[in-house]
Amino acid sequence: KSELDKKEIKKLAEQYDQFDSTKVKFFKDMPLSRKTILALKDSGFAKPTEVQKESIGLALRGLDILGAAKTGSGKTLAFLIPVLELLNNKLWSNQDGLGALIITPTRELAYQIYETLKRVGQKHDFSAGLVIGGKDLKFERKRVDQVNIIICTPGRLLQHMDENPMFTCDNLQILVLDEADRCLDMGFQQTMNSIIENLPKDRQTLLFSATQTKSLKDLARLSLKSPVYVSVHENA
Ligand code: ADP
Ligand code: MG
Repeated sequence: KSELDKKEIKKLAEQYDQFDSTKVKFFKDMPLSRKTILALKDSGFAKPTEVQKESIGLALRGLDILGAAKTGSGKTLAFLIPVLELLNNKLWSNQDGLGALIITPTRELAYQIYETLKRVGQKHDFSAGLVIGGKDLKFERKRVDQVNIIICTPGRLLQHMDENPMFTCDNLQILVLDEADRCLDMGFQQTMNSIIENLPKDRQTLLFSATQTKSLKDLARLSLKSPVYVSVHENA
């Protein structure tokens, strides 16, 4: 099984560089793992949106992304698909710990991302968890050291980093900052800076934001390495 997986991974990786995802019509035409393709189909997702086409192709190459696209454009899959593919490519398993961290401003958004991840990640074996306010921290405390993908709000995450000795992110491969401008508007600037300073430098980062303010640019400078700009203005 694992040999088959390795063969598929090698074949997919060979396609990343010359592949132009902006030209594809269907997810099944993108160089994605069979597990992801099947789950997308089961979840009723057939065609990628504009921001998904642009971001997924670039993210698969390992590039950092600074993305701007309006609400409802499909940013969740634009980052969840690269997260799943990256962990799949690295043969990530439960022993490897935290591989992906997704930060979003509110609990509601965290829940929505979690629900979408449960659907598109259903064929993969990665564990996922929510780290958000309003839940029992003790329960979270025991489990955060075993989870592969964490979806969190900034305040609660920093609390774990500061207070929970079980929490480690030494192996982190990819960071996603969702609705980064809203995180800053809600007063999380210092929290976000502290979180980013706690993370391994050698990682991929995908940052999505609806607006480009001065403080957003500061956050981008702190968190991204030679980012590619993805800006999508779809005709609604
Ligand atoms: P954003 O984060 O940019 O506001 P979401 O990721 O929440 O957008 O997606 C908005 C809506 O579009 C959701 O209901 C989602 O299920 C749907 N959606 C996203 N991508 C696709 C797709 N490729 N095909 C069909 N529906 C999609
Ligand atoms: Mg969103």
